Amino acid sequence: MYGKIKEHLHKELESIRSEGLFKKERIITSPQDVEIEVENGDRVLNFCANNYLGLSNHPALIEAAKEGMDSRGFGMSSVRFICGTQDLHKKLEARIAEYFGTEETILYAACFDANGGVFEPLFSSEDAIISDSLNHASIIDGVRLCKAQRYRYKNADMADLEEKLREAQAQRFRIIVTDGVFSMDGNVAPMDKINELAEKYDAMVMVDECHSAGVVGKTGRGVTELFNMRGRVDIITGTLGKAFGGAIGGFTTGRKEIIEILRQRSRPYLFSNSVPPSVVNAGIKMFDMMAETHELQDKLHINTSYFMEKMKAAGFDIKPTQSAIIAVMLYDAKLSQDFAARLLDEGIFVIGFYFPVVPKDQARIRVQVSAAHRTDHLDKCIAAFTKIGRELGVLG
Ligand SMILES: *Cc1c(COP(=O)(O)O)cnc(C)c1O
Repeated sequence: MYGKIKEHLHKELESIRSEGLFKKERIITSPQDVEIEVENGDRVLNFCANNYLGLSNHPALIEAAKEGMDSRGFGMSSVRFICGTQDLHKKLEARIAEYFGTEETILYAACFDANGGVFEPLFSSEDAIISDSLNHASIIDGVRLCKAQRYRYKNADMADLEEKLREAQAQRFRIIVTDGVFSMDGNVAPMDKINELAEKYDAMVMVDECHSAGVVGKTGRGVTELFNMRGRVDIITGTLGKAFGGAIGGFTTGRKEIIEILRQRSRPYLFSNSVPPSVVNAGIKMFDMMAETHELQDKLHINTSYFMEKMKAAGFDIKPTQSAIIAVMLYDAKLSQDFAARLLDEGIFVIGFYFPVVPKDQARIRVQVSAAHRTDHLDKCIAAFTKIGRELGVLG
């Protein structure tokens, strides 16, 4: 029986390859860090991890993970509502709510699940979801699983959002959904204006803080801090898999009744395993560290400005950013691939993105800065960019 589809899949794979869209995985043979070892033994500087605070290999989190395992075991072998809830899970949920200034939190195995399970329990065909066109795939999938009417507005375009909100007056409840930071440009959602429109048109607001939590705002509390809106957003989703240690785990935090309904009805919560004690205990430790100091955020913000300014001074075309994502625009798809490959030869690990991940003729290299990058790391990266930029005719 497999013969026919096997042939079909071969053809599909071939066409992915011939379009140059085949994703190959680079093998890393060291822990995740700003300096990593790759398969051939080379050590390279890593500028493409979501390791914004340098916590992925932090000794205090490794220690806390071990403690969690020693005191509460390896796995939960259960979903939360059967026998998968430990005291640690409740503690971490409370820490997340404190961090974001929200009422309550529900943990998931990943933010993909948080976004996948947030809409369907809350909204029906009588309601409207108004979603930014550049929202993450998991939001798009979550919306698809829900019967609400769908509206899509152009990225961060408030005139378009207003038009969609006017149309959506036909529905019972409305929610505006946006990423906090958009991962390809590094721009932040204009939360102040979104909030104004939400008030004017009687809509709730949901923000996905995956790339902004821990990063954006003076103390890293995300876009709600940046726009001085703590406690005023109805739903926040986020991940423990990026700035917050980078292991795994996601959450939805916000209004009490919303979180309570999710605990009763959200399918990825009800029908998927509980986050393991090692990860949960490390998460608690991480939020304890965040509560003590925002030194890491200060360092990250200094590093990001430093890198941006030097790259601009070197003559690169950089998208405006308010996050730790820096898009170095090259426009041409092939150039972005050649450029990234040459940078790897120079010991700099970055990824070139091109259509369909970004719009046609908008190819770029995305650089992700970390608080753990030292100035000499940043300088080495900038020097390599400059050298290759001259070689490939990007810089004059
Ligand atoms: C990474 C990301 C997710 C998925 O988070 P996981 O915890 O890795 O599943 C969801 N939304 C956005 C905006 C993201 O960047």
